[in-house]
Amino acid sequence: MTTRSIDINGARLLRRLDAFAALGATRAGGVNRQALSIEDRQARALLAELAIERGFRVYQDPVANLFIRRDGTHDDLPPFMIGSHLDSQPTGGRFDGALGTLAAFEVLETLQDHAVVTDGPVEVVAWTNEEGSRFVPGVMGSMAFSLSHMPDVWKDIRDAQGTKLQDAIAETLAALPAAELRALGMPVAGYLELHIEQAPTLEREGVPIGIVTGVQGTRWLEIRVTGQAAHAGTTPLDHRRDPVVAATSALNALYASIMPDDPEARFTVGRLSVEPDSINAIPGLLRLTIDLRHPDAKRLSEIEALIIALFQSSSHANGCTLDTRRTFDVAPTIFAENIIRESERAARRLGLPFRHMISGAFHDALYISRIAPTAMIFVPCRDGLSHNEDEYVEPEHSISGARMLFETVCGLLGQPAFGLPLV
Ligand SMILES: [Zn+2]
Repeated sequence: MTTRSIDINGARLLRRLDAFAALGATRAGGVNRQALSIEDRQARALLAELAIERGFRVYQDPVANLFIRRDGTHDDLPPFMIGSHLDSQPTGGRFDGALGTLAAFEVLETLQDHAVVTDGPVEVVAWTNEEGSRFVPGVMGSMAFSLSHMPDVWKDIRDAQGTKLQDAIAETLAALPAAELRALGMPVAGYLELHIEQAPTLEREGVPIGIVTGVQGTRWLEIRVTGQAAHAGTTPLDHRRDPVVAATSALNALYASIMPDDPEARFTVGRLSVEPDSINAIPGLLRLTIDLRHPDAKRLSEIEALIIALFQSSSHANGCTLDTRRTFDVAPTIFAENIIRESERAARRLGLPFRHMISGAFHDALYISRIAPTAMIFVPCRDGLSHNEDEYVEPEHSISGARMLFETVCGLLGQPAFGLPLV
């Protein structure tokens, strides 16, 4: 059988998106379906129910990742995985995560509708806690899957109400007895994730498909500038050792250079505080955090060095001392060439204009790319808006994304490299 004449069922996908948007629906039209909450469990239960109706097998692992498996003729082959996440931000949108998961399920159903026989299995996955809003950190399910274990420090993770992560996972697993429990982590033939862009590029350029070639690298810095706390009214200029003066002078230079000079760089000061935090005292200490991102590892290091050098000289010039600490470092990720090429062929076959792009946000694909050939497909969202109840994707873009997923997966299944030739 050839899959070239087969198309996904767009109307069914849109109905599914509506059905899942009702789970945790907020008054403003968004969703609140935070990881491992009752609403998240409802969404998992609905996906499992739909899967069982279609004769697919359902699995969970110890971090509550949910897998829907359509068997191939050779079940010992590693599965090709497609999917995303079902959890949301507290005031999240209906498409972030849900589109990728439900489009993946639509791919599985389309294979089933047309009785396509694959050599190896295809699995839909809904990763646990991608958002990281209720339990920190995010991309937890894919991280644990890629490591084949849960990091030890997760034992102590609790949400704002004091609920332990481990208890929330245990309750979530117990709420879905139809799913068989299997070990964490396994060989994967490849992974492809459809997601909304969460930025305005595709919409602005009128391009319906983004073929994602990688995820930019991220570094977080914590910076402490120590001066001397003193009286605001009595201390003359030559006696002041003011960390605010030192920090603002460095920041002014950094804001004026990093992003204006390098359009791929992202530089953000997200937290800034002073001590003693008193209206009539020169602060003795200033703390700030920097979130620095760039697709190129070398540039990331160069910019980090520039930041530290500028803070050093401005601290010195103002009689202050400097302390810097790198608290987070994720190298830029480059996605798998063969999946990117197959996505390009799929877009051409479907007559869908596309552009290449780098993801500015983290995704589960970032961790899975460490254990299997991985790539992503983006579709535009209105005004580039996400993590917002107004998040919106045009129905035609949701459908185009699912068609891209189907077409790419079928193309890949035909590649011997994946051990999954179509029969
Ligand atoms: Zn997402």
